[in-house]
Amino acid sequence: MAGNWKMYKTPAETKAFFDGFLPLVAESKHCEVAICPPFVNIPTAVEATRGTRVGVGAQNLYWKNEGAFTGEISGPMIKATGAEWVIIGHSERRQYFGETDATVLDRTKAALAAGLRPIVCVGERLEEREASQTEAVLAEQFNGGIAGLDAESFAKIVIAYEPVWAIGTGKTATPDMAADAHRAIRALVTAKFGAEAGAAVRILYGGSVKPDNVKNLMAQPEIDGALVGGASLEAGSFASIVNF
Ligand code: PEP
Repeated sequence: MAGNWKMYKTPAETKAFFDGFLPLVAESKHCEVAICPPFVNIPTAVEATRGTRVGVGAQNLYWKNEGAFTGEISGPMIKATGAEWVIIGHSERRQYFGETDATVLDRTKAALAAGLRPIVCVGERLEEREASQTEAVLAEQFNGGIAGLDAESFAKIVIAYEPVWAIGTGKTATPDMAADAHRAIRALVTAKFGAEAGAAVRILYGGSVKPDNVKNLMAQPEIDGALVGGASLEAGSFASIVNF
């Protein structure tokens, strides 16, 4: 269960979140939990979660380790903060910042080289779903991106299926719709990396996951977890999702 805070919260607000959140998930051992705050809050989050089962992640990284790349942050820099995870290829990065499947692959390789655990996002836009293009879009994103990893590297990533039309809109994919997409992604993984990799890969669903819909989504065997935006900003709400 991963929280994507997007561009929300200061360090002080980050500290306050964990003060409220950690006691609510202290007994939650059924899943891995991670919070991905803005870069500047990572040290506060790492300090707050030290000795707990809650991990911390970044929301992006650049694929070079260092250099004249004003405004960018590298994998080794993130790793040095004590963060463990990194979200890659979120649809907001694709939509507003020109992220492509090729740069998703570059970032994923860089994350793995730095010892980070990538959560790689894929998902179709509304017009693509309405044109029955969902599976074709997922195949394009997979084949143009993370299919370029070697099998050993692929085994270390988590995929997040996030239909763009469901992100931040309050419109959730039905559990059946999400499961269908997850099956399609798993088939792509199986075709490229074999049956064992297809069975093992963890696929999170993301898109308006809330305390009141998480249980039905998680009832689908195909759905291995959730990537949560808005509902991860409040301690009680994200704890309810973790403890579905
Ligand atoms: C996200 O940011 O990855 C996301 C799924 O957002 P929300 O839960 O707000 O739709």
